[in-house]
Amino acid sequence: VFFLIGILLLALAALIGYWFSGRAMIPINQSYKRQKDFTTDASHELRTPLSVILSSAEILKEKKESLPAFHQSVLLSMVDEIHRMRRLIDDLLTLARSDVEANQKLSFQPIALQRLIGEVADRMQIKAGAKEVTVINRAELDSVFLMGHSDSIRQLFYILLDNAVKYSEQGGKVEIEALLEGTNRVVCSVHDYGNGIPEEDLPYVFERFYRADKARSRNVEGTGLGLAIANQIVKMHKGQISVKSSKEQGTRFIVVLPVIQPRGDIRL
Ligand code: ADP
Repeated sequence: VFFLIGILLLALAALIGYWFSGRAMIPINQSYKRQKDFTTDASHELRTPLSVILSSAEILKEKKESLPAFHQSVLLSMVDEIHRMRRLIDDLLTLARSDVEANQKLSFQPIALQRLIGEVADRMQIKAGAKEVTVINRAELDSVFLMGHSDSIRQLFYILLDNAVKYSEQGGKVEIEALLEGTNRVVCSVHDYGNGIPEEDLPYVFERFYRADKARSRNVEGTGLGLAIANQIVKMHKGQISVKSSKEQGTRFIVVLPVIQPRGDIRL
């Protein structure tokens, strides 16, 4: 009897605990949502005046020859900083939006991955040309479709390739691989032969605002938000992202995503 009463009391305690924790989560969820809404609204509001400042500064830049040398250099660094701030705001907005989208159900469409990767790689090659970096696309994904949000998947590959180019040495190469594994998942990797990420920084690179190797990344443009966005996008698509890096082998980001291979009778 005592044993039975004991079990009943335990079950009751567990039930009460469950109920209280559920109730306790309501204000936490609400304040989380308020914080997200604030970030989205603030980013939006900041964008408009910043665009006005940027276009005014660009007008001045066109006439910079008429300014004394010192004022020219002030103006140029001002334009650079405004661009940096705009990137930061855009990244914050993307992150806040994808937080919201992760909780909603985004409308997913079938995406032909081979084509999408090819397009992003081609665009990136144009940017990489300035640094004489070669982008090599080895994706082999014919007839492989991902049910996903096309703009987000495009952004995911853009972030990884952009980083690979950014952190490559002049004249380096970047390789994209993508293969079907089994019948329903693809493994994609973006590999560069740059200096790598220090081992102690690896666990944190997907965190917001984290920039590894401060001394080096100070010389490379960035907000520290790209990989946090990439991580968010991969999660939204129920995939996984990981990184391997060393000074000798460079850096390889690996993304695994669930996909579909249409049967002959299904037209996508
Ligand atoms: P950032 O805008 O600084 O590039 P990310 O979130 O994209 O921000 O990356 C976070 C940090 O991870 C970077 O600051 C950089 O130190 C490191 N990192 C990311 N990709 C690479 C890479 N391919 N090679 C070396 N370091 C990288």
